[in-house]
Amino acid sequence: LVRNLEAVETLGSTTFICTDKTGTLTRNEMAVVEAWTPAGTLGVDGLGYEPDAAVSASSPAVWELGKGLALAAMRCSTGYAAHVDGRWQARGDPTEAAIDAFARRLGLDTEADRRGHLARLRFPFDPRTRRMAVVIDGMAVVKGAPDSVIPLCGNLDEVAALHVAEGLSARGLRVLAVAAQPMEAAGPVPMTLADVERGLSLLGLVGLEDPPREEVGPALAACRRAGISVAMITGDHPSTAAAIADAVGLRHPESPVLVGAQLPSDDAVLASTVDHDGIVVARVSPEDKLRIARALRCRGHVVAMTGDGVNDAPALHEADIGVAMGRSGTDVAREAADLVLLDDAFSSIVSGVEQGRATFVNIRRFLTYHLTDNVAELTPFVVWALSGGQFPLALGVLQILALDLGTDTLSAVALGAEPPARHLLDRPPVRGRLLNGTVLRRAFGLLGPVVAATTMLAFLVSLITSGWSPGEPFPSGDTLRAASGAAFMTVVIAQTANAFACRSSTVWPARLGWSSNRLLLPATSIELLFSLVVLFVTPIALVLGHASPPPAGWAVALVSGPLVLAVDGLDKWARSRRGGADESASRGVS
Ligand code: ATP
Repeated sequence: LVRNLEAVETLGSTTFICTDKTGTLTRNEMAVVEAWTPAGTLGVDGLGYEPDAAVSASSPAVWELGKGLALAAMRCSTGYAAHVDGRWQARGDPTEAAIDAFARRLGLDTEADRRGHLARLRFPFDPRTRRMAVVIDGMAVVKGAPDSVIPLCGNLDEVAALHVAEGLSARGLRVLAVAAQPMEAAGPVPMTLADVERGLSLLGLVGLEDPPREEVGPALAACRRAGISVAMITGDHPSTAAAIADAVGLRHPESPVLVGAQLPSDDAVLASTVDHDGIVVARVSPEDKLRIARALRCRGHVVAMTGDGVNDAPALHEADIGVAMGRSGTDVAREAADLVLLDDAFSSIVSGVEQGRATFVNIRRFLTYHLTDNVAELTPFVVWALSGGQFPLALGVLQILALDLGTDTLSAVALGAEPPARHLLDRPPVRGRLLNGTVLRRAFGLLGPVVAATTMLAFLVSLITSGWSPGEPFPSGDTLRAASGAAFMTVVIAQTANAFACRSSTVWPARLGWSSNRLLLPATSIELLFSLVVLFVTPIALVLGHASPPPAGWAVALVSGPLVLAVDGLDKWARSRRGGADESASRGVS
């Protein structure tokens, strides 16, 4: 969903995509596959949010500890799994829905627990500290990233617990640590987070699997062919991030994995550090994201940055293209974004880039088409003005209006809807202005003058075959109207051919297929019909000031179409021989 129309154009010029991980590169379908307690581990065999899946524990004691861990984690969550429309789905944060499903799989009635135990106090998830807390039913629970929670716990060896968490992360799992401490159920409610976090004991760790999206691999390959660098910028653990980046093929073997806290403080150094395709930056804060977007832009990149949280809004604003998640993102992120991914998928960004490039090229197509027309329409006026009004106007004001509004509009719309060229993503990003040298040369140096010259020729030939000789005073009345009709029809027919010529600045229309733009044939047919109506329906023709041309005028008008196609074909052939076509192709001009 494009929220800001200009973003489509900028998308086509994107040179660097900073993507997050969950939901964009992965499916955002979390499932607890392993849980660790100080007494042993539990394994879960089953994905999805269904309450039944095989859970194995090394001993009954571990099973009981696992239940305590799952209950505490579930109470410190607001997301849950729900049976809707015949299947179990996540409501709220999928990470927390997976914890709810895990608790059910251990035999806990989480729904009854939620109804029966209301939280006395909640500290929501803080993306900076990466943990959240709740005071509920005589205990305080803290849940969050292991490196954030484990140092708060005094009941076991910190290094050993972090080592276990590291092992789970290295398998690509998202890992949460859960800690708790008893609180007097009827005692005063602690007022600060520090009170809640004092004296915690670690209950255990949960490892969640989130399978990578299958379509990411081909989308990344398309980015690389298109000269676009891709970086993963995530709040998750570096090992989890690296494992997922490897699984989807984002990381090159030599690509570094950086951590937000260790990013260089100097912006120029930061820019050169992160300006690498395949780089992974983990444990980033929203401020890090903002700095990375700014640094890459300062290096001349056109940056697309994804984000879903409230705090991502500044980074989305800073990037050339802010991309928010339609399904999992917050309203604030969506408000700040230029583009909303309705399916959250990375491959949709790549499709957006392709559409952006196609739109950019299409604007150039119809610019060429319109400017050519303008040259042909302006020439009769210039000749009339330079002759001091002696040479009659070949095209009057109302005829020009009829051409602009009646016979050009549909073709221009059809050119704007030209399907993306097949190899649009096999070229470097589109750069430069819309009005580039190719557009100006073709409109003002080639096609425009050809259409203008044939228009004036049709006018003169019609006058001469009607009995006028050069040097004599110009005729008026029916003779002049018929000559003007010839000029009018010449512009119409030449522009019809020009619409097909403008479909590409390098490929001849026959090679593209005359009907491969499904709108163009109907558009030009309607326009030709319109021009015949305004020429042959006498009252309208009288208002416009023209009449049906003499045979010689018709002949020039009819030749003008093939002539435009021939000149266009010769130009494209000559440029391809000189290598000019390659150059324009490499600049993204199809
Ligand atoms: P991604 O790039 O994968 O979308 P992110 O940048 O959105 O990730 P966060 O969701 O902020 O990252 O998660 C950062 C860390 O916070 C995670 O590694 C996890 O340990 C912890 N975490 C995530 N969700 C929760 C949650 N609901 N409760 C507690 N801790 C969480």
